[in-house]
Amino acid sequence: MHPDSSDQDTRATPVPSAPQIEARIIRVAIPRPLRRLFDYELPVGMRAPEPGARVRVPFASRELVGVALELIQASDHDEPKAVLEVLDDEPALEPEMLELARWLARYYHYPLGEVCLALLPNAARRGASLTITTTPAWRLLAGADAAALGRAPRQRAALEALRDAGGELAASDLRQAGFQRDLLLALAERGFAEEFDQPPHAATLQRAASDVRLNAEQRAALERILATTDRFAAHLLYGITGSGKTEVYLQALSAVLAAGRQVLVLVPEIALTPQTLARFRARFGHAVALHSQLADGERLQTWLRCRAGLDRILIGTRSAILTPFADLGLIVIDEEHDPSFKQAEGLRYSARDLALVRARELGIPVVLGSATPALESLHNARTGRYAVSRLTERPGGASSPALRIVDIRGQRLEHGLSETLRAEVGRHLDAGGQALVFINRRGYAPVLFCTSCRWQAGCAHCDARQTLHQRPTELRCHHCGARARVPRACPNCNSTALVAVGTGTQRTEEALAEQFPDVPLLRIDRDTTRSAARLEAQLATIAKGEPALLVGTQMLAKGHHFPAVTLVAIVDADSGFLAADYRAPERAAALILQVAGRAGRAERPGEVLIQSLHPDNPVLDALVTGGYDAFAATELANREQGGLPPFAPIALLRADATDPRAAQALLRQLVAPLGAELTADDRLTVWGPAPAPLSRVSGRHRFQTLLRARERRHLHRALTALVAAAPPSRHGKLSWSLDVDPYDTY
Ligand code: ADP
Ligand code: ZN
Ligand code: ZN
Repeated sequence: MHPDSSDQDTRATPVPSAPQIEARIIRVAIPRPLRRLFDYELPVGMRAPEPGARVRVPFASRELVGVALELIQASDHDEPKAVLEVLDDEPALEPEMLELARWLARYYHYPLGEVCLALLPNAARRGASLTITTTPAWRLLAGADAAALGRAPRQRAALEALRDAGGELAASDLRQAGFQRDLLLALAERGFAEEFDQPPHAATLQRAASDVRLNAEQRAALERILATTDRFAAHLLYGITGSGKTEVYLQALSAVLAAGRQVLVLVPEIALTPQTLARFRARFGHAVALHSQLADGERLQTWLRCRAGLDRILIGTRSAILTPFADLGLIVIDEEHDPSFKQAEGLRYSARDLALVRARELGIPVVLGSATPALESLHNARTGRYAVSRLTERPGGASSPALRIVDIRGQRLEHGLSETLRAEVGRHLDAGGQALVFINRRGYAPVLFCTSCRWQAGCAHCDARQTLHQRPTELRCHHCGARARVPRACPNCNSTALVAVGTGTQRTEEALAEQFPDVPLLRIDRDTTRSAARLEAQLATIAKGEPALLVGTQMLAKGHHFPAVTLVAIVDADSGFLAADYRAPERAAALILQVAGRAGRAERPGEVLIQSLHPDNPVLDALVTGGYDAFAATELANREQGGLPPFAPIALLRADATDPRAAQALLRQLVAPLGAELTADDRLTVWGPAPAPLSRVSGRHRFQTLLRARERRHLHRALTALVAAAPPSRHGKLSWSLDVDPYDTY
């Protein structure tokens, strides 16, 4: 093997596009956790692959699909093995994507081979052909009559979805919106719609004229964005929930689309918010979605169509940022603070950071929108890296809800709910309003506890308590998924004095149902909302606006609007503000404001109650009295003082093993090469190894070491030295990983 082939810093070496005859060796990126590239020989008569084309190669008695990176004159390796097949005439990864791969490998210190393959859709990774095929789709027929479907509301909804989309929709999009094939077949039976194979064609955009007249703040924001369509610029659109951010995105997109270019919109979640997609489709008559529920083949087709410029509007979750485009003109990241934009496994990239990297490379603007921007983003705004536009009003005059703390010190709680809270819920229901009760924990109770011996039900495989669930009654581990029967007596002392401690959504639901038996009650959490269609049906009930109760986890905070909700009650704010993770307060504040933002959209002003045992916590107090600005200022000061991001970059090493000592030893071995000079004068601080907060999961022991640098370049230098000397990330019973800019440190 060529000695340089282990070099991660594979700067773009110019590759002759018409290869000389003697260059018969190619350097290949292979998806193995090895920090090196591999050389292969092209058999006589086989055409040389373009850089970025896929090749099939032998590897350790297997066959793998790799990506050819360059042609080289000679390999130092004795006898490079022969390439089995060149899979692509054109590169699978075009120059921009190869450049992106190199950036990812350098920044996240991740093997280039794995990065290259991570940039390809699954099907392409397995060697599927990169040709654009026809798409199974449905279209409306001339006689389609929504009025005739009065007693078939789902069919009618499907018909309207087709109509809103301009008459045609891919079968996958319909399925994703909850319209199954049976339903469409029923429409076909009536002669209202038909199935057809949509040939590859460029999407046609029909711009519905917006009847929205932007207010002054929106107009200023839009003008700022549109002034930068020909260059890189980062815009932070900081606007309260309902202030019309999406309307600004839509109009900015409209201008970029009118110039013939493509646009990318990243959202935290699509599956639960079909209305987001519907809104884009209603405006432009086109928008394709990329999300985890797509089949591999569909995903590949979307990828190819974006790359070919056929699809013009892509709306997707995190990984959509890895899509190639023929002519991208604008990137929008909605809810830019959302933790889901950070990949937590494998190649641990931040889609937000990547969006900035790509926008800079392409010379296009990026718009980050949020009601509660990430503290990093606010910091970037302060230092002038982002241009900030603020939206402080809700169009239509609806006012923002007022926040109030309910001091529950010394109060008797019933199933976690204070007297004040229950009385307020009753008052709002009596006044004809709806109330939303937020508790970020599913199940009935987080702890099953023996009052005789203090035993607690714990998971056999994890260092975690089991959560008590009802209907069916069982204990569940929320970390490994293990289920167990609820013991009738304490397994430790045989006492029957077992009690459920703490509150989850099921318990809150039960308590409220008991107190308000005549009010419709809807619970929304991961256990109740497995189907988007069912969720939509339930939400339709709420949309009627009659008095109703909603209980749920953060799933309530994502995207849905509840115009008739006049009271938001937050059962437990303290766990967020007092948690050990430095990012927990930021997460808690964003969640509270997001849930609060669900209320008071209409003419009725909303009210938000926050139960707390620590009402004088300065961070919570800043939030309640001064809003997110005051909170962010307080919290950024804390971060600066603590030497935490965004003021100092961090990276987290994690190791796990069945033997806890082995995991610790591995972490010590990993940081050993950092040497004294790096830790000198505070350039780099190393904490650990320490047990991870959840120190055992599924039978494996987890430890971590945190690295903090004074400056980014110090961190990079340290990590380069570290990974160069590190053993493979999986070997034997050990595994380790590196997370640059981790979202969770606990
Ligand atoms: P956000 O994305 O900030 O939550 P939206 O863009 O969804 O806000 O706007 C909230 C509601 O206000 C939507 O129903 C939208 O159509 C409406 N809206 C937005 N801008 C205006 C405007 N300038 N005038 C009237 N209504 C508006
Ligand atoms: Zn006991
Ligand atoms: Zn478990």
